Amino acid sequence: MTEKIEIRDAGWNLDNSYASLPESFFSKLKPTPVRLPKLIILNEHLAAALGLNHSALRSNDGVAVLAGNEVPEGAVPLAQAYAGHQFGHFTMLGDGRAVLIGEQITPPGVRVDIQLKGSGRTPYSRRGDGRAALGPMLREYIISEAMHALGIPTTRSLAVVTTGESVIRETEQPGAILTRVAASHLRVGTFQYAAARGNTQDLQALADYTLHRHYPEAEGGVNRYLSLLQEVINRQAELIARWQLVGFVHGVMNTDNMALSGETIDYGPCAFLDTYNPETVFSSIDLQGRYAYGNQPRIAAWNLARFAEALLPLLHDNEPQAVKLAEDALSDFTERVHRNWLTGMRAKLGIFNEEQQDESLFDGLLGMMQKNRADYTNTFRALTLGRPEDTVLFGNEDFAKWNELWEARLSRQEESQASSRLLMRSSNPALIPRNHRVEEALEAAVEREDYSVMERLLSVLSNPYAYTPEQEEYSILPESCSSPYRTFCGT
Ligand code: AMP
Ligand code: MG
Repeated sequence: MTEKIEIRDAGWNLDNSYASLPESFFSKLKPTPVRLPKLIILNEHLAAALGLNHSALRSNDGVAVLAGNEVPEGAVPLAQAYAGHQFGHFTMLGDGRAVLIGEQITPPGVRVDIQLKGSGRTPYSRRGDGRAALGPMLREYIISEAMHALGIPTTRSLAVVTTGESVIRETEQPGAILTRVAASHLRVGTFQYAAARGNTQDLQALADYTLHRHYPEAEGGVNRYLSLLQEVINRQAELIARWQLVGFVHGVMNTDNMALSGETIDYGPCAFLDTYNPETVFSSIDLQGRYAYGNQPRIAAWNLARFAEALLPLLHDNEPQAVKLAEDALSDFTERVHRNWLTGMRAKLGIFNEEQQDESLFDGLLGMMQKNRADYTNTFRALTLGRPEDTVLFGNEDFAKWNELWEARLSRQEESQASSRLLMRSSNPALIPRNHRVEEALEAAVEREDYSVMERLLSVLSNPYAYTPEQEEYSILPESCSSPYRTFCGT
């Protein structure tokens, strides 16, 4: 009896609209209980925003929910079906190790998915164990929360619990479950799944659902499915430009990892650029550089073309006309990412108005950064602080010329130097989740059960534009090491 009351006290207010889609889109099942749940980290700010009580979440009953041992009242847990192109190859997938426990309706009335990742096997698990290891779940927690603080649309992380069970990856690891919060888990791959099954009614139900959930303003349009395509394209054109501007490399932009809400989703082998080089790849399995930093806009365009293909039967009764509509919608995607990127670069350099030659100013800087292996974030940080001597470019003749051009450019706008500096401060993070810092935090947590390193890192990352003295040490680069940073998919 008391158990139920405590769970309710946590403030769960769940709805289950996804469960009203045609049955082919999901399998109802509960998370598989775990042996010994232990709360490792709880995002109290996010809990409050969701209308959840953090003390209740910390209680045994609260943790039982975060571990999947109990489901809160009102939950209709399910695993979602989807498909996807993985490194260009089409596969039927689905939540193989995740369960959506429901949609939390927050106090202001916003609907968000609450998903347990690492919650056990499902009908879509294929050969996987349905579980997740502590390191990768904490990694997703750290990087997704850092992205949020950077102002980039992303899924969020509410909590990580360990399960008291181990998982076998390359080595034996502590098992863990991440509670992921998302605008939804609708993906390009969800539409590919519906299209591959060839049931247009189901496809239409999915499209109507997506419109209603994410683009209600487009529901009443003349061709609402074309509007859906255009809106998804818009949001991706913004999102990818934001990634490029902070030097984020997603690392596994398979079509099942592209959310229709426009949020960044699925933090596997992602990492941030250190030295500037468009060919940067961190993922150990991305041998061809398909998902390299500089390729992200093109890959997003490719993924959106897969989305458009899936939508074709809804765009027009006449197939050639449907194809024409889709092609037109997609035609200027990379150009739009580029325009958004130009806008962002202007802000990064304190520029308010537009001039034709701005792009060559940006290219000049990036070219020097690449040639001199300059750190991406720290170069912009140094310019923001008015301390060009902090960059490896300083003393270089090309840089002196570029600096003159930049200063001349700034003088050709009405705004003061002080306003430029302010704009630069709010556009250039003083710090990012540096690879060596993330690794250090994960090592302390996983190897020594010391969570203080991670907590301190999360705290400085929560305000990346603050330029506080406390953050200073987090912009120090690691001692240069002989091999480049690698991330692994063994999640
Ligand atoms: P991801 O690389 O995380 O996007 O996952 C790709 C697909 O593999 C999804 O269908 C996942 O649910 C599935 N998957 C990943 N890890 C596991 C696992 N340990 N057990 C079962 N399925 C998994
Ligand atoms: Mg995925």
